[in-house]
Amino acid sequence: MGEFELIRRFFRQAQAEHSATGVLLGIGDDAALLDLPADQQLAVSVDTLVSGVHFPAKANAEDVAQRALRVNLSDLAAMGAEPLWFTLALTLPEVDEDWLRDFSRGLFAAAQQYGCTLVGGDTTTGPLSITLQVMGSVVRGQALRRDGAGVGDYILVTHYLGDGAAGLAAVEDRLSLAPPHDDYLRQRFYRPEPRLAEAQHIRALASATIDISDGLAADLGHICAASDLAAQVYVEDLPLSPALLELGDIDQARRWALSGGDDYELCFTVPESHMAEVGLLIARGELRATVVGHMVTGVGVQCLLQGETFELDQTGYHHFQS
Ligand code: ADP
Ligand code: MG
Repeated sequence: MGEFELIRRFFRQAQAEHSATGVLLGIGDDAALLDLPADQQLAVSVDTLVSGVHFPAKANAEDVAQRALRVNLSDLAAMGAEPLWFTLALTLPEVDEDWLRDFSRGLFAAAQQYGCTLVGGDTTTGPLSITLQVMGSVVRGQALRRDGAGVGDYILVTHYLGDGAAGLAAVEDRLSLAPPHDDYLRQRFYRPEPRLAEAQHIRALASATIDISDGLAADLGHICAASDLAAQVYVEDLPLSPALLELGDIDQARRWALSGGDDYELCFTVPESHMAEVGLLIARGELRATVVGHMVTGVGVQCLLQGETFELDQTGYHHFQS
């Protein structure tokens, strides 16, 4: 099968026909032509997933595709942007039709779920790697950034933390739990949920936002650096899932929540003046989020357990570090 046949079968045809927003010209020409409404700005983000680094080489293609798109969409959520389009640069060691069919199925299932349309890409030969670029729209001037946190702001996180790291351990057979919890954690790793709806709820309320890919301590550290402030995190308040608690090792669960990574939850700061509104959203069940700390003056992220410093040995995953 040649390159063009491959693109036609697995990427052009596989995409359910729908009148995608703003796509004047999609796959098939030299470039896509896209239209953005006049009052909106474009949010763009790109991420590469390398086999054996970002996902186990044996992982099934449908899971890999789902995870790839979801992880990218999490970056749009963190900006308060709504997904519109994406491109795919795919490097394949060989043309494996079964792999491509599964990959394409996972990719378009996620694309349809989150309303994001594939508008182009590139296909090359080499070690398996997947690069997705997502594009979304945000109302002019209303993007959620990292640099807006103020002293005294509350620090919140969505849903649960630590499941991503526990899920990776489950996927790599380093952890085994009873079926409901084991399945839950594997799903949390392969199907992280981009918090797009949550982002829309907090868009007018949050002073700074980031998505947690490298662990709360590391990613909150980016908000601190960008906002020129420090953070205090109350370790006893970290939201942990029933599956994580089932481990029976609260210390490990907390360490995963703080520095495990792969959660793709949002961490955001809210000024005191907006906390009543955030509390109302939470009480009404429209937003699942937990207060885990406060912004203070200084530098860096300090984790406290019952008022005592809670030491972390590593904060986040860094490439190129020995
Ligand atoms: P060009 O040589 O002009 O860069 P290509 O031959 O790389 O064009 O691609 C032809 C068309 O197919 C382009 O519209 C491109 O965006 C699209 N395309 C290539 N690979 C993929 C892919 N993996 N997924 C989606 N679209 C793709
Ligand atoms: Mg090309």
